[in-house]
Amino acid sequence: MPGPLILVVEDNALNAKLLRDVLSVRGYEVAETTTAEEGIELARSRQPALILMDIQLPGMDGISALRVLQQDEATRNIPVIAVTASAMPMERKEILAAGFSGYQAKPLSVKDLTAEMARFVDPPTGGAA
Ligand code: MN
Repeated sequence: MPGPLILVVEDNALNAKLLRDVLSVRGYEVAETTTAEEGIELARSRQPALILMDIQLPGMDGISALRVLQQDEATRNIPVIAVTASAMPMERKEILAAGFSGYQAKPLSVKDLTAEMARFVDPPTGGAA
C-alpha cells in the first residue's frame, strides 16, 4: 500500500533528488514539480498529505504560492513546510509568520526534516527508519 503522498515543489535538481530519495525510502509516495504554479495545480488535483515548498522558485515564489493555497478551500488545510536556503533567524520568523506550518533550512538535515514531517503525517509503515 502506498504511503501518504508528499508534494515536493523544488527547482533545484539536487535537492529534489535528495527529497525524493529520503521520502521514497521511507515509504512515502512522492509527487514533484519545479514550479509553484504547477505545485498549486498538483495540490488541488492530488490532495497531498503534506507539501514541501522551496521559497525561491522560477516564476511565482513559495510565499505567494502558499497564499494561493490558503485562499482555496480545496488546499487550505494541507500543511506546507517551507524549505529554503535562508537560514537567518529573521527569515525563519518571517516565513512562519507568512503561515507556513514548518520551516527547514538547506542544507537539509534528514533527521530534522523527518521529525518535522511527523508532526503532520504519520510516517508510513514498512519503510526504512
Ligand atoms: Mn529554489
